Amino acid sequence: MRLFEYVRTSEVADALAASAGTGAAYLAGGTTQVDLMKDGVLAPERLVDITRLPLRGVLGTGSSLHVGALTTMEELAADPLVTHRLPMVREALLLGASVQLRNMATIGGNLLQRTRCRYFRDPAVATCNKRTPGSGCAAVAGPARMHAILGVSERCIALHASDLAVALVALDALVHLEGAGGTRTVPLTEFYLEAGTTPDVETVLAPGELITEVEIPLLPETTRSGYLKVRDRVSYEFALVSVAAALEIEDGVVSTARIGLGGVGSKPWRALAAEDVLRGAPPTAANFRDAAAAALAGAWTVPGTTFKVELAQRALVRQLQTVSEISR
Ligand code: FAD
Ligand code: SF4
Repeated sequence: MRLFEYVRTSEVADALAASAGTGAAYLAGGTTQVDLMKDGVLAPERLVDITRLPLRGVLGTGSSLHVGALTTMEELAADPLVTHRLPMVREALLLGASVQLRNMATIGGNLLQRTRCRYFRDPAVATCNKRTPGSGCAAVAGPARMHAILGVSERCIALHASDLAVALVALDALVHLEGAGGTRTVPLTEFYLEAGTTPDVETVLAPGELITEVEIPLLPETTRSGYLKVRDRVSYEFALVSVAAALEIEDGVVSTARIGLGGVGSKPWRALAAEDVLRGAPPTAANFRDAAAAALAGAWTVPGTTFKVELAQRALVRQLQTVSEISR
């Protein structure tokens, strides 16, 4: 048994103080953190329970939704503004995990969940650059399927598995952070890092820094959006590929396009190249196919992930058709 210190605080300042130095980790809903500790993947010396911090709740202002980091996935999905103005956020939440998990899992924890790469999650596997930097990558060399094809490197092809984050990058959400150096706000598109040469460093979060709030700009009333999740079984499964899409169509052309891709990226993937193809163009099947080709142009695959290029393109075309049909 590995011993660790357990600390519970009810003030942000106390949580930051308790997490100072190395070896501390935060505990929110625990649905990722506790699993990985039980499996021997993570071994913090101190676990700082943040569940009593005053960071829970959803507040709508005129143009944005302010979501406390400890709000649960179910609570956010049930918010009326999410239902009416951010349907792709609601769908991304409700297509994730199970209702029991969503009642425990928090928004901050969801954004910081760790990869489902089975080699990362099995300490018996010696080669994993994310778990043990410099040790190699078992997935690049061996069987891989639930892995990424965009933003990967030869050092790591792990996937970011959050559904919610895919919708949030498409919406230009912001994360509010608080740490020893004070508070700061980071666009979610700049929060995550690609695999590169240091796949063990996944975000710009400094040691001990807390996510306190997620700010989500509301879509205009006229925008229709949706989240498509393609997976091996209908429920309780991570995405093979997923698409968060929002389109505004005015005078027969796409005026605004927002696209996030899941199941394909080392980080929740904003498909800017696809958006560029669509903006100013009529919403036709041919243009949707061109956008999908642009979105996947930079894919790097291993034999087990080659199928994802076409699957992601088809999913994107289908979701653009769905959204454009309902927005006419
Ligand atoms: P915790 O486990 O408590 O923490 C996760 C990580 O975040 C830890 O490193 C912790 O230190 C850190 N952390 C938590 N809160 C903060 C904060 N405010 N500031 C800084 N650091 C913080 N997710 C999907 O998106 N789609 C799915 O289909 C899906 N299916 C799942 C199926 C199963 C069986 C399981 C176990 C999980 C699944 N998940 C899925 C993942 C699930 O959504 C996450 O485990 C959950 O959202 C994590 O939230 P938590 O509050 O439990 O985080
Ligand atoms: Fe580890 Fe990344 Fe390779 Fe998985 S893909 S074994 S997480 S280095």
